Amino acid sequence: MQDIKELSLRELEEKLLSWGKPKYHAKQIFSWIYQKGAYEFNGMSDLPASLRKLLENEFYILGLNLAELQKSSDGTAKLLFELDDGNLIEAVNIPAAKRATGCLSSQAGCKFACEFCASGLKGFKRNLTSGEILDEVLYLKNNLPDAQLTHIVFMGTGEPLDNYDNLLKAIRVINSAHAFNIGARRITISTCGIIPGIKRLQEEDLQVELSISLHTADDKLRSKIMPVNRKYPLVGLIKCCHEYIERTNRQITFEYILVKGLNSDLLSAQKLAGLLKGLRLSKVNLIPANPVFKDPVKITPPSEKEVESFKDYLFKAGVNVTLRRERGQDIDAACGQLRLKYEKN
Ligand code: SF4
Repeated sequence: MQDIKELSLRELEEKLLSWGKPKYHAKQIFSWIYQKGAYEFNGMSDLPASLRKLLENEFYILGLNLAELQKSSDGTAKLLFELDDGNLIEAVNIPAAKRATGCLSSQAGCKFACEFCASGLKGFKRNLTSGEILDEVLYLKNNLPDAQLTHIVFMGTGEPLDNYDNLLKAIRVINSAHAFNIGARRITISTCGIIPGIKRLQEEDLQVELSISLHTADDKLRSKIMPVNRKYPLVGLIKCCHEYIERTNRQITFEYILVKGLNSDLLSAQKLAGLLKGLRLSKVNLIPANPVFKDPVKITPPSEKEVESFKDYLFKAGVNVTLRRERGQDIDAACGQLRLKYEKN
């Protein structure tokens, strides 16, 4: 049996033609799955019975099971899914006034081992298929009343640009008017700085948003807290960002988690302003750290005063800067924490 969601609209049309069926049924099937939330072919009442039978014999629709659901007092819901091979992934629904953001995983586990992230602690398991990525969207949309998803961010488990082909295939369905119909500008890919992936992305005909986890402008420190920097150091990464902006005319957001005693002093702010100088269409998103315990290191956020001083420094240096607070503080909301807890039990 194959996951039907791994087929693009065109591939599904070709499948129908190979069965001697008209290809327009593909759009109907897309609509049943992605817009009407059907999990069974049998209920697709505008399809001929013979086609429903063929679909049933060859495909399935939903490929994951909910293992745990945590809801925060601020409405944030964190879901832990079990894939059919037993691997675990997380997705988060973040509702707000007039919008809901689905934060998705792109891999089971992660090979990049960033210091602030619980996802890398247990290593890499495997890439998600495009169908499994779409499963996350389907599940959020169909099962949470406040998940009328308007935005998607790939900031869950895994490095999206390390699973490039499956990611892009899923994004094209998320974006398709025949499926979820979420505008490309409302879809954000968040990367730790995979230069070849960024270069590929700038050649796509998709207006998706790009966000880069930076966390420090010091090459030595970045190599320590984000080992990916040893392969793709800051000088090459920033050069690549210049090219990306020139080629696409789109903004890049730099994520910067502020950690007490590590990267939150004014010298760090000064280095950051220097690194981003001349990079038009860029924005820095400051995020006070969510505590992650990585024995024996305890990561804690800086004081409010330190956060404000850091932000003020950047603002005065002409950097486009915003401050974001983590949602879902009362649940295991930091990337990978819920999966980690579950795997320990
Ligand atoms: S931040 Fe992203 S790339 Fe880094 S370890 Fe976590 S999931 Fe992997």
